[in-house]
Amino acid sequence: MNIIRSEVMGFCSGVRTAVNAVYDAVELGKKLGMPVYTIGPLIHNEMFLEKLRVEMGVREIRSPEEASPGLAVIRAHGIPESERVAFLENGYQIIDGTCQRVLRSQQLVRKYATEGKQIFIAGNPEHGEVHAVLGAVEGYPLVFVIDEPENIPDTIDYSLSSVILSQTTFSLDRYTNIYKKLIERFSETAADLEIIDSICPSTLNQQKALTKLTAVADAILVIGGKQSANTRRLFEMVKESGTPVWYVSGEEELDSKLLTLTFDTIGITAGASTPEWLVEDIIRKLRLLSDL
Ligand code: SF4
Repeated sequence: MNIIRSEVMGFCSGVRTAVNAVYDAVELGKKLGMPVYTIGPLIHNEMFLEKLRVEMGVREIRSPEEASPGLAVIRAHGIPESERVAFLENGYQIIDGTCQRVLRSQQLVRKYATEGKQIFIAGNPEHGEVHAVLGAVEGYPLVFVIDEPENIPDTIDYSLSSVILSQTTFSLDRYTNIYKKLIERFSETAADLEIIDSICPSTLNQQKALTKLTAVADAILVIGGKQSANTRRLFEMVKESGTPVWYVSGEEELDSKLLTLTFDTIGITAGASTPEWLVEDIIRKLRLLSDL
């Protein structure tokens, strides 16, 4: 049995930065004798979070009142400014693992708010990153989150100079449909609408690499947490293509069917929040079982 890894898989650069920020915080915490926390779950991978808790003593908290002050790591999605201030005021030291792309979106909305522009954010209003970007302009009245083209609010003023950006992991198709609809409405007035390219290429590159892999593999194994939207999307892509596909979050879920069906070539991919050690564990198990 051949095992081929996707050319682009596993941690994206933002997740890697946030994970390294936690490792640095653990070292610093030992030196200073301080507890280490993450503000919200660091990544969407329960096995990784369990390791952080059990082996490194890193606790997840959502507000400064939940624990005694220590080192608080901000995850890749970022946090609203008011939350950062609340942690600092309560005696925590912040270690910032916010992804550079999210920081850019926060800087952009601040700049546009200073210029008095109307701001649209295409994204999921419940997503942590959208909260963090909105939180960069808390109290600014001219900002709207739009998740679908049919949910464009009636309160938008089409006579105001405006700008649209998207959640970094938003679907390109949905973003395009939203701004096209806005362009139509703005074309009836003299006001301008600036469109910002803020979708992260890492998801797209991962999906393109998977399409390539699916073309040469007899079956695909997708590795990642079941709560990771990014991993689920990879699984669905392969399913839609008709190639046999399995989605496992740990080696204990490896289906013996996968082996009894004896595929010649198995392609492996992993979501942006899947640690490399988990991928290696699963590949090792696959090789062991196929040698039996
Ligand atoms: S997907 Fe892109 S924007 Fe999101 S954390 Fe990773 S690198 Fe950053």
